[in-house]
Amino acid sequence: MSQIDIRERLGLRPIINVSGTMTSLGASIVVPEAVVAVTAVLPQFVEINDLQKKASTVIARLCGTEAGFVTASCAAGITLAAAGAMTGPNLGAIERLPDTLGLKNEVLIQMGHMVGYGAPVEQGVRLSGARVVPIGQATHARRYQLESAITERTAAALYVVSHHTVQFGLIPLEEFVEACHARGVPVIVDAASEYDLKGFLAAGADIALYSAHKFLGGPTAGIVAGRKDLVRAAYLQNSGIGRGMKVGKEGIVGTIAALQAWETRDHAAVRARETSALTLWHHTLSDWPGVNATIVPDPTNNPLERLQVSLEPSAAHITAWDLADALAAGQPPVIVRDHEVEHGFFYLDPCNLHPGEETIVAERLVAELELARQSNEIIATPLERRRNRGAEALMRWPV
Ligand SMILES: *Cc1c(COP(=O)(O)O)cnc(C)c1O
Repeated sequence: MSQIDIRERLGLRPIINVSGTMTSLGASIVVPEAVVAVTAVLPQFVEINDLQKKASTVIARLCGTEAGFVTASCAAGITLAAAGAMTGPNLGAIERLPDTLGLKNEVLIQMGHMVGYGAPVEQGVRLSGARVVPIGQATHARRYQLESAITERTAAALYVVSHHTVQFGLIPLEEFVEACHARGVPVIVDAASEYDLKGFLAAGADIALYSAHKFLGGPTAGIVAGRKDLVRAAYLQNSGIGRGMKVGKEGIVGTIAALQAWETRDHAAVRARETSALTLWHHTLSDWPGVNATIVPDPTNNPLERLQVSLEPSAAHITAWDLADALAAGQPPVIVRDHEVEHGFFYLDPCNLHPGEETIVAERLVAELELARQSNEIIATPLERRRNRGAEALMRWPV
């Protein structure tokens, strides 16, 4: 039976995603093992606490730690972990949140980690009722600043590992952990997009948080992993503020399946497919006037590379952002990674492609660049107009 693309039935554009794992584009291609598991559990009843015990065992094994559970998202994990650090297993305190009266209620975070991933990372902390205490400045944090911020009110410290954060001048995780542990402060690591399931906990983090729907290819969910007492305290928030961050049986089962698939996945073969897409695009763009393409490593050392495509508008007849927009507007729409586009480049990320899509991307690149070459004028939309486009579109939603 031929499968009709559900997007067509819903009247949605059949986009090709070369921007990476983006919540706003539907995150990732869910691995077949997770799809099967989700389908199998949906019609069945299960005892959720028992299912979460099974999840704990699998998470503990893959993360090399004591315990874990599945929640709605990594963002939910931030809130639940902060809440757990404040309340411990005190069910009364859990029901009183976000009122933190009588609790340690401060969570430390380096200023350079106070980023947005679609929402402010520190808002996830504040949602629990905790007060956020910034450490240092945007591009500068030192151990003494962290140490002098630790008081009897400090409940936890949050450390963010992400390409979004400032990548220099801040306190390395090992030193951050050492300074916090010396004063009995637990460290929560937001590692939402990081492929390394063990390293941050091995480096001393007490809790590590991951998204199930990013590199793992699970359904939309979050993973909380780490020290048993802290994981339990976070889990208990499901009887309080965690209720609105509830994950269903399908999210838990799908996450377990994605983790198990990750364990047995042929990572070398995946990498080889990604490399062949990069090589194709690189080859396609080589010698194109005004285009400079370079394969670059991931900024936080995930085992993945991207193609950085820089445009020289005078020679290519188009700016990087106009090319990104043309690719997104065409048939089929190709969505590139454009968060740094004001510097005159975007990236092509090969990790969310269906077979054959890499060729379509290459053809679309050539088609748009050819159109630009034939244009008498240099296609250069003022960047100001583009910058606020997303917010303006949101103000019109649902139109
Ligand atoms: C994606 C991301 C999040 C949010 O993860 P969700 O699971 O989508 O809530 C949090 N922190 C960082 C660093 C991220 O990249």
